[in-house]
Amino acid sequence: MTKSWNIDTLLPEAIRTYQSIERYFGIKVYYPMPVRRYCQNAEDVKRCGRRIRNPRYLGVVGNYCKAGAGPSAIRDTHGSFQILKAGYVDLPVLIQALQKHFIAEGKLQDEQFNYSTLQANAGNWCYKNLKAKRVVFCEGTGVTRNPWFQHLPLTPAKGETLIVSSASLKLPPSIYHSTKWLLPYEAKRFRVGATYDESDLDPTPTAAGQAELLSNTKAILSEDHTLQVEAHMAGLRPSTQDARPFLGRHPDASGLFILNGLGSKGASVGPEMSRQLINHIFDNEALDHEVDIARYT
Ligand SMILES: Cc1cc2nc3c(=O)[nH]c(=O)nc-3n(C[C@H](O)[C@H](O)[C@H](O)COP(=O)(O)OP(=O)(O)OC[C@H]3O[C@@H](n4cnc5c(N)ncnc54)[C@H](O)[C@@H]3O)c2cc1C
Repeated sequence: MTKSWNIDTLLPEAIRTYQSIERYFGIKVYYPMPVRRYCQNAEDVKRCGRRIRNPRYLGVVGNYCKAGAGPSAIRDTHGSFQILKAGYVDLPVLIQALQKHFIAEGKLQDEQFNYSTLQANAGNWCYKNLKAKRVVFCEGTGVTRNPWFQHLPLTPAKGETLIVSSASLKLPPSIYHSTKWLLPYEAKRFRVGATYDESDLDPTPTAAGQAELLSNTKAILSEDHTLQVEAHMAGLRPSTQDARPFLGRHPDASGLFILNGLGSKGASVGPEMSRQLINHIFDNEALDHEVDIARYT
């Protein structure tokens, strides 16, 4: 386990953003919840000990728990520890609320964007009946079709997840991570994930992905449970060669911007990237040079 890049800046901004959205819409989307991470072997236990003693991880990693100290439903041969500053975001609830709001305000048109229709005209960008000084592209792996930004080195990675139900499996609320992660929802439902594949860029679920997730989940459970697949999702992570987001302005086409490359961490990285880009555009604040796409020019 390694502390994620810039997490001490990214996480507070993400939490602040999700909590303010919760207050504004009267919804619940952010669930702080520790991750129980299971050690896989003796070397992993030693690594965990080093993290616990490292002051950089103070308040992030909890104490080591000997094998068997966690819930009995999870196979535990080498012990576990908790990652304390963790949680999950209910993205479907968040996206639905935002879509409903912006559609009601006449600010969202849910349709395919046609790049060739966007034209520069007298200091503006025109698209059908819209005229704007600036355009910010936030299209995930769709950027590979974007004529202005497709030169950026995106390395997409497919991932699949399942929602399963089980009448017999019982786990207290937490995120469990042992090679794959397992998140108990209400009503005997569990989210399990995720696969990782850089070779298949078709964003549809596969039988092989489902089989991998089910066999991994069964392997981390200490007893046999019947798992009923209720939903099977797949998507492409917009990962980048240097594992840093793509943020900033087009070097030549004035008024075109990008926010992309959030990789496997959009929920924690997205809010701070949005904040930086907005302050850059409107207040001319400098972008973090690590994420600024100027690094590719
Ligand atoms: C299996 C899996 C598990 C993941 N787990 C986590 C996790 O645990 N935590 C985490 O933080 N992140 C996770 N991620 C990563 C997270 O999903 C991404 O970081 C995030 O979705 C990136 O957000 P985005 O808005 O930049 O891109 P996207 O979510 O890809 O959204 C881009 C949108 O633009 C649309 N679009 C593209 N081109 C066009 C066009 N021409 N016209 C109209 N619309 C267009 C797409 O349809 C899409 O809706 C996971 C991803 C996968 C696949």
